[in-house]
Amino acid sequence: MITEDRLRHPEKAHRPATPVLRKPSWIRVSRAESAAYGETRAVLKAEALSTVCEEAGCPNRGECWSKRHATMMIMGEVCTRGCSFCNVATGRPDALDAFEPGRVAQAVAKLGLRHVVITSVDRDDLDDGGAAHFAQVIRAVRHRCPETTVEVLVPDFLHKGAAWETVVDAAPDVFNHNLECVPRLYPAVRPGARYYQSLRLLDEAKRRNPAIFTKSGLMVGLGETLEELRQVMDDMRIAGVDFLTVGQYLQPTPRHHAIDRFVPPEDFARIEAMARSKGFLAVSATPMTRSSFHADDGFAALQAARRAQPANTEPANV
Ligand code: SF4
Repeated sequence: MITEDRLRHPEKAHRPATPVLRKPSWIRVSRAESAAYGETRAVLKAEALSTVCEEAGCPNRGECWSKRHATMMIMGEVCTRGCSFCNVATGRPDALDAFEPGRVAQAVAKLGLRHVVITSVDRDDLDDGGAAHFAQVIRAVRHRCPETTVEVLVPDFLHKGAAWETVVDAAPDVFNHNLECVPRLYPAVRPGARYYQSLRLLDEAKRRNPAIFTKSGLMVGLGETLEELRQVMDDMRIAGVDFLTVGQYLQPTPRHHAIDRFVPPEDFARIEAMARSKGFLAVSATPMTRSSFHADDGFAALQAARRAQPANTEPANV
C-alpha cells in the first residue's frame, strides 16, 4: 500500500520528486483473489498485527497471503530510520506492546505456519534496539508452535553494544539481516546505517551460534555495478553468510530513491551463478525475490544443503 500521507523523514519529505518508472513485463504484482488471502488478512486483523507485506507495499502479497504466508512486523509501524528505499513510516514510535509476542504466536498457530518470518522497524529509541522484545517473540512462538521454524529479519543494532546477542541466544532457526545495497550507496540509500556494522553483525551472529543459519539480502537496480556486487558477496562469505537473496528495487513513491534500472532476468541469472560460485548454501536471485519470499522453501534448501556437506567443512574459499 503506497500512501503519501504517512510520516516521512525530512530527508525523504524534502527529496526532489523523481517520477516512478513504468514497470517492465517481468515485474508482476500478484493478485489477491483467493479465499486464503482473505483468511490471512482476517487473522492478522484479529491479532492486531502489522506486516511488512503491507507497510512496504510488497508486490508479492497476493501470492504469499494466498499461501497464508505473512511476514509480521513487530514493535510498531513507525521506524526511527529514514532509508531512502523504504516505504515504512518514519518518526517517534509508540511504547512496546508487552502482549505482542503472544499475539504473534497466536497468529502463527491460526495460520498453521511451518516456517514464520518476523521482522521489525528500527528502534533506535530503545536501549537494546528491541532485542529483548525480539527474543520474547521467538520464545512465544516456540512455546505455542514447537514445530514451527523461526526466521528473524533484524535491524542492525547500531550503537546498541552486544544487545544483538539476546536475539541470537533465543535461538531462531535463521538470523537474517539485509545489507540491502553495496557500500558506496549507503550514504544515499541507508544514511543511518554503516556497512561494516551490518557485516559485522552477521559475522558475529554466526560465530556466536554456528548452528543458526545466517541470511542477507541485496536490492539491485539502485546504481551498483557487477564488480561491487561481487565484492559484497565475498564480504558476506567471509562473514559466513549461508543464504543470499537478491531482488529488484522498486521505487515506492516519487520521494524515494530513484531507480537506476530494471535488471533483466538474464542478468539475474548471471548474479545467481556468481553467488553460487562463491559457496553460499542457498541463493535466490530473481526480479521478484524479497528476503521473505518463499522463505519456507529457502529454509528447506538450507537444511538440505547443510546435510549434503561433508562433516567439518570449512566455509568455501572466495
Ligand atoms: S515477499 Fe515477504 S514481504 Fe512480500 S508479501 Fe511475501 S512475505 Fe510479505
